Amino acid sequence: MEEQQHDLVVIGSGPGGYVAAIRAAQLGLDVACIEKVPELGGTCLRVGCIPSKALLEASERYHEAKTSFKKIGIKVQGVELDLQGMLRHKDRTVKGLTAGVAYLFDKNKVRRYQGHGRIEGPGTVIVDGDERARIRARHIVIATGSEVAGLPGVEMDGDRIGGSTEALSYPEVPGHLVVIGAGYIGLELGSVWRRLGSKVTVLEYLDRILPGMDLETAKLAQKTFKKQGLKFELGARVTGARVEGDSEENKHCIVEVDGKDPIACDRVLLAVGRRPYTDDLGLESVGIELDGRGRIPVDGHFRAADGVFAIGDVIAGPMLAHKAEDEGIACVEGIACGYGHVNYEAIPGVVYTHPEIASVGKTEEQLKEAGTEYRKGKFPFAANGRAKALGQTEGQVKILADAATDRVLGVHVIGPRAGDLIAEVTVAIEFGASSEDIARSSHAHPTLAEVVKEAALAVDGRAIHN
Ligand code: FAD
Ligand code: NAD
Repeated sequence: MEEQQHDLVVIGSGPGGYVAAIRAAQLGLDVACIEKVPELGGTCLRVGCIPSKALLEASERYHEAKTSFKKIGIKVQGVELDLQGMLRHKDRTVKGLTAGVAYLFDKNKVRRYQGHGRIEGPGTVIVDGDERARIRARHIVIATGSEVAGLPGVEMDGDRIGGSTEALSYPEVPGHLVVIGAGYIGLELGSVWRRLGSKVTVLEYLDRILPGMDLETAKLAQKTFKKQGLKFELGARVTGARVEGDSEENKHCIVEVDGKDPIACDRVLLAVGRRPYTDDLGLESVGIELDGRGRIPVDGHFRAADGVFAIGDVIAGPMLAHKAEDEGIACVEGIACGYGHVNYEAIPGVVYTHPEIASVGKTEEQLKEAGTEYRKGKFPFAANGRAKALGQTEGQVKILADAATDRVLGVHVIGPRAGDLIAEVTVAIEFGASSEDIARSSHAHPTLAEVVKEAALAVDGRAIHN
C-alpha cells in the first residue's frame, strides 16, 4: 500500500468537504480529499441541490409555456414534454459542475484520492478503492454527509419505491405519485412531477407542512400548492409500502396509512428526512461516539477528537449545502489561523417551489415560545409593480423585529424569487440591522426587493403602497 503524507485530509467531497479542502489549500496547507465515488461534489452536486433545481427550472418553464404564456400575450402551440431531453439537461448541468470541482482541485493543488476513506487511528486514514493508500495527516476533516432515512414497513426497491435519487430520474411521468413527507424534498420533487402531469398525493405525519418553518408562511404555501393540484393528507401515519404485480404492465405500489384505506399508486417517493452517513469510517479508532441521532458530536471549533474535525450533514444543524460550506471554511480557518466562526442565527433556508419559500432567523412561533416581544411588518407581492409585470403576485414578505430595539430577528418570504430576496435580510441579520435600516435603504424601482423594503416600513405601520 502506498504511504502518503499531507497536512490535512478531508473525507468526502460534498459542499462541506470540497470547500474546506480548497480553503485549506488557499491558506497554504498541503491538502488531500478522499471521495468514494468517481464524481466530486457530493450529494448536493450529484443527486441533490443541482439536479433537483435543474428539473424544477425546466418543469416550471414547461408548465408556464403550457398554462401562463397566453396570459401575457404569447401564443404557443404544440407544447410537448420531452422527458428524456429534460433529464439530459439535468445530467449535463450536474456533469459541468462536478467537473468544475475537479478543475478547482487541480487549480488549488488539492490531491484527490478515489476510494473509501477510513480512519485507522490518530493522524492516519486508509484509502480503499481504485487507489489504495495510507495517508498520514495532522488534521482529519470528516465531511461524509448524509443518506436518505428509511421508514419501517416501507420496502424501498430502488425503483418504484425510492428516495430523492430515484425521483430525479423516473423514466416516465408517473400516473400517480405518492410522496411520504411534506418537507423540502417532498414539496420540491412533488412539484416537479405534478407540473409534468402526475397526480401527486403528499402524506404528512404532522398536522402541517414544512415543520420548522414559520407557520403562517407554511399555511400560505399549502394553499398555493393545493391550487397547483398537489393533494395533501395531513396527520397521515404511513405504516408500510410495497410493490405488487409480477410484470412491468401490472406493477404498482400499495401504501398503507394508519386508520385509512390503502392507496394504490405507480411510484412512491420517501422523503421523511436524511440521516448522517458514517458507515465504516473507523470512528472508534479515535474514540468518537455518535449522538442519539447518529451525528458526530463536535465542539465550537468542529473538533470531534484530537486532530479530527467534522462538518456538514454529519454533524448537528440544518442539512443544507451552504451551512456545510460555511462550516468547512470556519473549520479549516480555525485549524490554520486559530479563528473561524459560523453564525447559526443567520443561515437561510429556501424551498425552491413555485413560488419559492425562504426564511432566515426566528419564526413567530419561536419568538412566542421564548417570550420575546416583537413587532411584525408584512407586505404582499400583489401590491408590487414588478411582481405584477411578471404576472407572479402570490405571496408576501414578513419581517419580525424586536419590539424594544427594532433589531431584525426573523424574515419569512413566500413569493417570486424569494430565494434571492432572502440574501438582503440575511445580511441585515448578520450585521445586526434594524427594520428601520432596511426601510431607509434605497431599493431600486421596480424590483421585487421593494416588497422587502415595504415590509420593513410596515413594521412601523408606514408602508406606502398598501
Ligand atoms: P454530502 O454532500 O452528502 O457529501 C458527502 C460526500 O462524502 C459524498 O460524496 C460521499 O460519497 C462521500 N463519502 C461518504 N463517506 C465516505 C467515505 N468513507 N470515504 C470517502 N467518501 C465518502 N441543500 C441546499 O442547501 N439547497 C438545496 O437546494 C438542496 N437541495 C437538495 C435536494 C436533494 C434531493 C437532496 C437529497 C439534498 C438537498 N440539499 C440541499 C441538501 C444538501 O445536498 C446537503 O446539505 C449537502 O450536500 C451536505 O453537504 P456535505 O458536504 O455535508 O455532504
Ligand atoms: P424534511 O425534514 O425536510 O421533511 C421530512 C418531512 O417528513 C417532515 O415534514 C416530517 O414531518 C415528515 N415525516 C417524518 N416522518 C414521517 C412519516 N412517518 N410519515 C409521513 N411524514 C413523515 O426532509 P426531506 O424532505 O427528506 O429532506 C431532507 C433534508 O435535505 C432537508 O431537511 C433539508 O435539510 C435537505 N434539503 C434541502 C433542500 C433545499 O435547501 N431546498 C432541498 C431538499 C433537501
